Amino acid sequence: MTKNLKHDLIEYGRLIGAKDFSPGISGNISARSGDNILITSSGSANGYLEDEDIVEIDFCGYVVEGSKKPSSEKFLHIEFYKQRADIQSVIHVHSPYLTAFAACAKPLDEPVSPEIIYCFGKIPLAEYALPGSDELVKKTSTFFKDYDIILMENHGVIVGGSSIKDAYLKLELAEGYAKTIICTKFIGGAKILSEQEVEKIYSLRTLR
Ligand SMILES: [Zn+2]
Repeated sequence: MTKNLKHDLIEYGRLIGAKDFSPGISGNISARSGDNILITSSGSANGYLEDEDIVEIDFCGYVVEGSKKPSSEKFLHIEFYKQRADIQSVIHVHSPYLTAFAACAKPLDEPVSPEIIYCFGKIPLAEYALPGSDELVKKTSTFFKDYDIILMENHGVIVGGSSIKDAYLKLELAEGYAKTIICTKFIGGAKILSEQEVEKIYSLRTLR
């Protein structure tokens, strides 16, 4: 097991916990490690991870190294890595503000913030399925090809990144955005950007 990768998962897990993105024993984080995946164990709290809470699995979900049972959402992570060669880390959490949108079955798809349009396009909503089920993998993974971040209806959110830090920063950005959108509801509603302005932002995306 790669020590540095394990260390990074523990460090970013603690940050995710400290930021209140992963309340209690919920959520799971992983990183690609060569032909295998390092993932948090079932029942571990992301904010309080220890060395033994990280398990190495292969792409069939079997444990390669570690004494604990891998997260029950392992196949969701595996599918993200399978579909996207550029994804090196996956974070699944029930962060309160994004999960509020997921619980209301509302995608974050209105063009309000240039930064969100530039980074994600939009944050779509995958249809509900039982946590840990094959159906959940099927319904959520239909978005993996085109999106780095997806809301999971009545459940939470999943984010993929080019590194653990990248996945974490995307989560932080999206969670802050969800909080802003909730605030706009109290102020009187967000101003929606025009199609023309959205096109200009999309043209910047092609340059990256
Ligand atoms: Zn979950």
